[in-house]
Amino acid sequence: MLRLYNTLTRKIEDFSPINSPGVGIYSCGPTVYDYQHIGHMRRYVGDDILIRVLKYDGYHVKQVMNITDVGHLVSDSDEGEDKMEKGAKKFGMSVWDIAKKFEQQFLESMDLLNIKRPDVLMHATDYINDQIELIQILEEKGYTYRTEDGIYFDTSKFPDYYKLSRQNPEELKAGARVEMVAGKRNVSDFALWKFSPKGVKRQMEWESPWGKGFPGWHLECSTMSMKALGPSFDIHTGGIDHINIHHTNEIAQSEAASGRKFVNYWVHHAFLMVDGEKMSKSLGNIYTVEDIIQKGYDPLSLRYLYLQTHYRQEMNFTFKALEAAQNALKNLREEVSRWDEQKGHIEKFDNQFFEAINEDLNMSKALAVVWDLVKSKNPSSQKAGSLFKYDEVLGLNLSKVRKFREEDIPHAVKELLREREALRKEKKYHLADEIRHKIKKMGYDLEDKNGKTELKPL
Ligand code: AMP
Ligand code: ZN
Repeated sequence: MLRLYNTLTRKIEDFSPINSPGVGIYSCGPTVYDYQHIGHMRRYVGDDILIRVLKYDGYHVKQVMNITDVGHLVSDSDEGEDKMEKGAKKFGMSVWDIAKKFEQQFLESMDLLNIKRPDVLMHATDYINDQIELIQILEEKGYTYRTEDGIYFDTSKFPDYYKLSRQNPEELKAGARVEMVAGKRNVSDFALWKFSPKGVKRQMEWESPWGKGFPGWHLECSTMSMKALGPSFDIHTGGIDHINIHHTNEIAQSEAASGRKFVNYWVHHAFLMVDGEKMSKSLGNIYTVEDIIQKGYDPLSLRYLYLQTHYRQEMNFTFKALEAAQNALKNLREEVSRWDEQKGHIEKFDNQFFEAINEDLNMSKALAVVWDLVKSKNPSSQKAGSLFKYDEVLGLNLSKVRKFREEDIPHAVKELLREREALRKEKKYHLADEIRHKIKKMGYDLEDKNGKTELKPL
């Protein structure tokens, strides 16, 4: 039985889905206006682990994720520039091209980290009509009002507004009066629809019953999650910074519209830090997965590193720690490569592993079980039987190490290898290195030994 921390109750609870064995899960996805860095990716590995554990436990999981390609303003409180329009200016491209470029970069980073792709990926701009319909429902029920710059949700009409964040409204009022958007009735009210500013042609804008404009950021997640998973579903995930505003607003507008409980379990991931500060673009301390590879690291070492810290704990990133994780993974692979073909399993470790992962996803404990198993005196065939099963959760491709045979090398990799050989003969080493990089991306590394090139899986 999975036990999971629920931000809504601030307790670790027994997980029990609405329609077992089905589980519906919605993950707030990226705003595709710039590169996704390894801080963002920690979150998505966290979601991946949760989903893999649910599957390991026998559930049928449907994961839905959104791609925010409109409406997310620089400030979470309905002010400032649209992140997408800002990104478009920065890179000198249209917003639509920016969205495509960075969605691609995000999906590639996911693949490199062996994160399973969501079952359903929804783009906010594909569901504008549904978002307008949700506002209409809220309007009919009396939750909305109009200001100079948009249609707002009146949070004073939703009595349980602070149930997720547990903030004190009086303190909020005192703190935020100065920067409150003109016309807003309450500090916590938020935009459902923003009008395009007068005299400004936005790259992304749509007609609506209230005037030309674009949807508020929170609205897309309510609309798309309920469309894909129904008005009540099991799990909703995001970064801890989403608790106070984004997820609080999602609950308010979804429950006001449907009259039902929106989500049963709220899962929030802690940040990746660098020297005590959040890894973020504005601080200039970011690395992408691509950067990590350029520096000679295997992206799965990064995955291993993430697994060492509990998802609700802040994690400090250092290259020293990444190096150590890389060595640990290398040692693990070396052990595994010597093992016999898998046969049977070791119940004692299976039980310990199962307990660890189901204890609010205690992956560092699960890794400790892995090492206990590796060092134990059991037959290697049984160790393999157990470990390869655990790897369905760990996602470290450990069985690949064991099963590697010359004939398993994909055709595309062999082609690249031939291309590289040719370039090396012509002494075009720089180009040859680029090919090596491509081969690495496909999960293989090369070693040039005594005039021969040997290929091995990463
Ligand atoms: P941004 O693209 O900076 O707006 O970030 C989008 C979301 O990614 C944030 O709301 C966080 O939930 C998550 N995120 C950003 N930076 C980090 C970090 N350093 N560690 C973990 N999650 C992060
Ligand atoms: Zn969201």
